[in-house]
Amino acid sequence: MADTSAKANEAKKLGNAAYTKKDYAAALGHFTEAIRLDPTDHVFYSNRSACRAQLKDVDGALADAQKCVELAPQWAKGYSRLGASYYAAGELRKSLQAYGDGLKLEPGSAVLTEGLVLTQKALAAKASEIAENVRAAQQEIATREATRAAAAAEAQAQGSNAGSNGHTVAEDIIVGIDLGTTFSCVSVWRDGRVQVLPNAVGERTTPSYVAFTEEGERLIGQPAKAQAARNPGRTFYNIKRIIGQGYHEALEEVKRFPFDVKEKDGKPVINIDVEGKPRSFAPEEISAMVLEQMKRTAEANLGFEVKRAVITVPAYFNDAQRRSTQTAAAIAGLKVERIINEPTAAALAYGLDKQTEGLVLVFDLGGGTFDVSLLQIEGGMFKVLATAGDTHLGGEDFDAAMQDHLIGVFKKQNKGKDVIGDNPRACRQLRNACERAKRMLSSAVSADVEITVNGEEYNTSISRATFEKLNGPLFERCLASVKRVLDDAKVSRELVDQVVLVGGSTRIPRVQELLQEYFNGKQLCKSVNPDEAVAYGAAVQGAVLSGVRDKAMNALILVDVCPLTLGIETEGRVFAKVVPRNTSVPCSRTREFTTVEDYQTSVDVRVFEGERSITDGNHLLGEFVISGIERAKRGVPKIDVTFEINVSGLLTVTARDQTTGANAKIAIQNDRGRHSQEDVERMIAEAERLRLVDEQRVREAEQEYAEEDD
Ligand code: AMP
Repeated sequence: MADTSAKANEAKKLGNAAYTKKDYAAALGHFTEAIRLDPTDHVFYSNRSACRAQLKDVDGALADAQKCVELAPQWAKGYSRLGASYYAAGELRKSLQAYGDGLKLEPGSAVLTEGLVLTQKALAAKASEIAENVRAAQQEIATREATRAAAAAEAQAQGSNAGSNGHTVAEDIIVGIDLGTTFSCVSVWRDGRVQVLPNAVGERTTPSYVAFTEEGERLIGQPAKAQAARNPGRTFYNIKRIIGQGYHEALEEVKRFPFDVKEKDGKPVINIDVEGKPRSFAPEEISAMVLEQMKRTAEANLGFEVKRAVITVPAYFNDAQRRSTQTAAAIAGLKVERIINEPTAAALAYGLDKQTEGLVLVFDLGGGTFDVSLLQIEGGMFKVLATAGDTHLGGEDFDAAMQDHLIGVFKKQNKGKDVIGDNPRACRQLRNACERAKRMLSSAVSADVEITVNGEEYNTSISRATFEKLNGPLFERCLASVKRVLDDAKVSRELVDQVVLVGGSTRIPRVQELLQEYFNGKQLCKSVNPDEAVAYGAAVQGAVLSGVRDKAMNALILVDVCPLTLGIETEGRVFAKVVPRNTSVPCSRTREFTTVEDYQTSVDVRVFEGERSITDGNHLLGEFVISGIERAKRGVPKIDVTFEINVSGLLTVTARDQTTGANAKIAIQNDRGRHSQEDVERMIAEAERLRLVDEQRVREAEQEYAEEDD
């Protein structure tokens, strides 16, 4: 017996040595050995708990700490381990209790006091976050009441009868627009329900395509897509994949475009000759043309001008991408009342339709982006718990993988001759054929692909198995985001009540299979229309904001989160986090910083988003200088940096010296990815000019017809 105990202590010593050298994995092995030899020694559990905490094994660290306290309830240090473990597990009240119990045994303990204070602070922060949510909700309800009262007063003044939906004047209407990578959709709340508004050719979704013909005519939507293969250099699509990005960030995407995209002031611009003159368009301008088309569709259906919209973006869109979407709307003549996240909008559609409650995971795989969000739906409150995704993953990537594969197949068929090569027309034709084949493979096990290059016909077929193999790694990437969302929300997969599929690419059987396997065979909800659910949710939010009276909406509150961690750069390019990812929005967070040099009176504040601890790996959102800082030794001045995120997920950063009161502020706007106010005004004027040109063309065409009839 004595011998075993000595051996156990020997193992503990080895563990302590490894721990000091920060080799936690080795230390864990030694402490486990010590416990095996003598499972009655509380110190072994305490030490292993510390190791597991270092290795981020939260559950393991907690179990060991509990065992330690159970074995030695009078040992104060055990409570310090227990407090820290509960803290890491997010159980703040239990953590507080543990530190309190420890302090009863050892009242002066610095470690226990420190832990207690830290936990109290975290609890206070959490309470203020809840209070913030409640405040936002109350504010929103008050705004709605005010809007309703104003509408009622106006109706009375005009002597008009307010309709059952509460809309009295056209200005009230706020449409919902899903500005998709491949398709867009517009909806509105009318006659007590959401209506998807069909476009001029009677379709409920419109391709997000814009083209200029050789004759200088501008085409948007279906007509633009229909001529894409014939006119590849003059047909623009997938613009959502580059909007709000610097040229170098967008480069991978740009390489795939058959149209000309160049760098200007660090941003991508799309070049083309229109009526013999070289022209360049910012991505925002092309997206604005699609939005303008959606606005026109709404106006044609409603019979009056539409000026206000709720627009959706992928949950994983960063600040720059959101602002660029807002700019595009401004160019199109639309006021964005709110930007909402696509999966949240889809959850809104699903939740209202099915009257569901509980934990709902929305899996939104569209044409160009992938989002996954976990929501808690309860009594009209739609609270996003966590979100993750990839703004460069979607149906277009599956098409591209098939295209690359088939280029090789055709090459083999033609004795090594590359029949597609750099021929943009052949490339576009093949790409379209791949998209058709991919859709076919969702219901059939093989699909034919036929193209004609320079009058020659080429054909082959592709099986579902090959398609799945080509895209296997991309499908797996989707699952990684699902896991991350559950981890971030600290929810195990068994607790998820519903898994809702949104986005055209969720029709792919393998994607459904993988998801179903992951959720242990759970039935997936396919009842929402994957093409329309997002616009539906946006229309609901539009109705809420415009003060529509409806039973389902009165209690409706959306609480979303910020998808990426936000913070600033500190000495040594270290990223100091201010707002952790998945914090509920709107929110405001302040962190104190100081100077790094003696008598430094100004500081450069560089704002980043991302998850890396060194800023090099993160995305620079903008920077500004705060001057007028207290002249003092380094480390003495106290500068409060405050991040505020509004309900649309847009960020404002302010910095303030606590002593001198000097302050500086930016709404992140003027860095590389963004356009200045003058730029935006120029783009609005240009959009107006193009609108007039289009109208003139229509008038001329009508005139011609009339003359022919004569
Ligand atoms: P969304 O952006 O949600 O409109 O999704 C459009 C994407 O869904 C495009 O990449 C389509 O090719 C893809 N898609 C639509 N229907 C199917 C289908 N039946 N099978 C596979 N992908 C599809």
